[in-house]
Amino acid sequence: MAQNLCSTIFKRPSTTFIFVILLCVLGFYTFEKTQIQTSAKPQKASKLTHHFHDTFLSLSSNYTVSQYLRALTLHPHLAGTREGYQTAQYVKTHFENLNLETKVSEYEVLLSYPTQISLTAKFSNLNSQEIETSEVGFDVIRPYHAYSPSGTAVGEAVFANYGRDEDYRALGVVGVNVSGCVVVVRRGEGMSRGGAVKGAELRGAVAVLMYTEGEYVKGVERGTVMKGVGDPLSPGWGSVMEGGERLGRNEKEVEERFPKIPSLPISMETAEGILRSLEGPKVPLEWRGALKDSNLRVGPGPTVLNFTYQGKEKNATIHDVFAVIRGSEEPDRYVLLGNHRDAWTFGAVDPNSGTAALLDVARRYALLMRLGWRPRRTIIFCSWDAEEFGMIGSTEWVEENIMNLGSRAVAYLNVDCAVQGPGLFPSMTPQLDDLLTDITKKIKDPDAADKTIFDQWTARNKGINIQRLSGVDSDFAPFLQHAGVPSVDMYYGKDFPVYHTAFDSYDWMLNHGDPLFHRHAAVAGLWGLLALRLADDPILPFNYHSYAMQLQEYTSILSNKLEGLVSFTPISRSIKNLFAVAQEVEEEAKNLRAEGVSSDLEVLKKRMLNDRLMLAERGFLDAEGLLGNQWFKHLVYGPSNHYDSKVDFFPSIANAISQSTQTKRENQATIQHEIWRVARAIQRAANALKGDLS
Ligand SMILES: [Zn+2]
Repeated sequence: MAQNLCSTIFKRPSTTFIFVILLCVLGFYTFEKTQIQTSAKPQKASKLTHHFHDTFLSLSSNYTVSQYLRALTLHPHLAGTREGYQTAQYVKTHFENLNLETKVSEYEVLLSYPTQISLTAKFSNLNSQEIETSEVGFDVIRPYHAYSPSGTAVGEAVFANYGRDEDYRALGVVGVNVSGCVVVVRRGEGMSRGGAVKGAELRGAVAVLMYTEGEYVKGVERGTVMKGVGDPLSPGWGSVMEGGERLGRNEKEVEERFPKIPSLPISMETAEGILRSLEGPKVPLEWRGALKDSNLRVGPGPTVLNFTYQGKEKNATIHDVFAVIRGSEEPDRYVLLGNHRDAWTFGAVDPNSGTAALLDVARRYALLMRLGWRPRRTIIFCSWDAEEFGMIGSTEWVEENIMNLGSRAVAYLNVDCAVQGPGLFPSMTPQLDDLLTDITKKIKDPDAADKTIFDQWTARNKGINIQRLSGVDSDFAPFLQHAGVPSVDMYYGKDFPVYHTAFDSYDWMLNHGDPLFHRHAAVAGLWGLLALRLADDPILPFNYHSYAMQLQEYTSILSNKLEGLVSFTPISRSIKNLFAVAQEVEEEAKNLRAEGVSSDLEVLKKRMLNDRLMLAERGFLDAEGLLGNQWFKHLVYGPSNHYDSKVDFFPSIANAISQSTQTKRENQATIQHEIWRVARAIQRAANALKGDLS
């Protein structure tokens, strides 16, 4: 049924292929001639490059991308399983069939799977009742929290909202203590799963049950409770297959990354049954959420929960798959497109809508190569493994290659859940804002005829709306937050209701997410064109004026918040310098672009400017890392302790503000020191962009 539908309404790529063959026949002679002249006639070369970029867009095919997604989602393919390996083979074969240089990097890492789970509830006056915790009727891994410790816990149920500090303070006000209890929390407000479990553990709770709410939410949300990213047994270095250093499982550094009490995700219905049975003080108004029950109580009890989780940990082999298109003029500069491949279940949205788009970009590039196109810089397709356990595949690879990435990576373009529904949601480092905006004007909107993505995106948001990358929720984290590589993360739609459940399947995509696969085609277009511009533009399309503007905005938000407690003058001074250098660089780029005659000196001048544009982002890195979280080196974007969810920048300053163990005076000094560190980081970025020694 579904397949018949596909064949009738999808645009088959046949017209495209005819077009390509025609181009092959007609185009080669001109191309050969032009290529010889490239160095002498840059104008002509750039015309040819534009032509290739337009051709890239014309090769769009929603039919092809739907077929990739179908093949990728036939079976569940969790990292470390046989089906996970088969999916890696599928991606590898796809790249090989396109004649792309293909390779696989393997790592041995610690993964975690469930073996036995049981949950019973004893409601008042009733006998104990078994509660179903899996999604009945699916052949997928049962809902669990990876790296939850094994154990049995018995205790009265208590509701703690999102499990934030302020939620426990509210419980304290009405005299509720969660010690010895099984805490029930809902997901949200930027609390990580691990953070929510840790919060309960610190207050003496014996276990945590976690649910996701929402009008259309179905199933149970799986996830990891490990803190930080990457393989826990090789923190900071690549967990290479043979002879690599591994920490012991019981070492303190490893133990600290996992909660000490067991936890489990449950469905909203299960949570509702438990919460409605509680007595004690009424829940605050804002805690009611989707349950909308004015009689809801927080407990503890009288309902008693008896919960057992047994899991096994395994040293598993994971597979990162790559395809490389070597640059013709600057092969030692890398533009990376990345997406993870492993999924909790079928992964139609998360992550294989992105994988399907990745495979389609590769297909289109391979066709361009047959027409004679070669990128100026090297393009690398990255298909990561074990992201769901904590960005493990990408982190190990970044750690292993930190030196070459640090000196050679131009940008990392991540797409995870490419299509969740309607509307573009981009996040990126600010020097890329203009480039993205420019590209959205060149691609047709998938949901509105005669409109561009730009038209619809700006109409929906009443202007340009770009988010930043402080979250640690996909594979851009190691690239930006550890290696300082300018990064992008983008998707269509947001907050899809089947996230990490058995319902994230091809059927859901066909019925809800993207019935005609036009959104997939649009993401592939945006992603591929972004990479083409970064790989082919003679001068990198980076704008550091945008970065300086963004930093200035952050500074004014924070200085208003802290009202004279500390001085922001050091940061303001650095930002002023960055503004000035950005201005100079813009002029320099304009002049270099205008220079018509190509000489060795001109080539060198462009290369020197590009290096400064590329390396400026690295200036924000600090060897000491974030206060309390040293692996994260970027002082503008990275994870903080969430003292205020609106402050999702300058994580080290945010962490300093939330230090509760210090006296007021000590705290003031800590914050001021962090301000100085950020000021020096911004100055380093300005110096790198200027390229002069002091
Ligand atoms: Zn994902």
